[in-house]
Amino acid sequence: MLWPKLARNLLSRPRTDPPVTPRPEVVAALRDRLAEAGQRRLGRSLAIRHVDAGSCNGCELECHALGNVAHDLERYGLRFVASPRHADVLLVTGPLTRNMAEALLRCRAATPEPAWIVAAGDCAVDGGVFKGSYAVLGGVEEAIMPDLVIPGCPPTPTHILEGLVALLEANAG
Ligand code: SF4
Repeated sequence: MLWPKLARNLLSRPRTDPPVTPRPEVVAALRDRLAEAGQRRLGRSLAIRHVDAGSCNGCELECHALGNVAHDLERYGLRFVASPRHADVLLVTGPLTRNMAEALLRCRAATPEPAWIVAAGDCAVDGGVFKGSYAVLGGVEEAIMPDLVIPGCPPTPTHILEGLVALLEANAG
């Protein structure tokens, strides 16, 4: 019968985990620091081009979460852009597969200065769980020296934000 099943599902609790919402004071502090450093170094918001260099997509989910209603990336003065030609930062995830090395180098060549390279996630740092595989080079460093590494499997959106703020502050001059 459909109705008992429907009633049961309507009355039961959701099976998903409750959303993880960042603490408002953490958000406010990050936003203020980023706005100040962004204005000092760039005079505008920070533009990020994401490069998936062979990740399992776990890190991508956390990067995408930066844009959801809980984090709302743009309030920090950050935005993802569709081309490396418009980016200040290349945010690289994944262990750098052999097939993606050339693409990453071309992406770097197309990015105007300052062209900061950020390795996000354990795989991008040193190959992570894919270390030793014939198909991977074992981290972003094998092709380009990163300016910042953000460890974690995967790193949380807040960790990624804190890393980007630290990068901008360190280069704000
Ligand atoms: S660090 Fe973890 S979540 Fe990110 S790509 Fe590697 S295995 Fe996946």
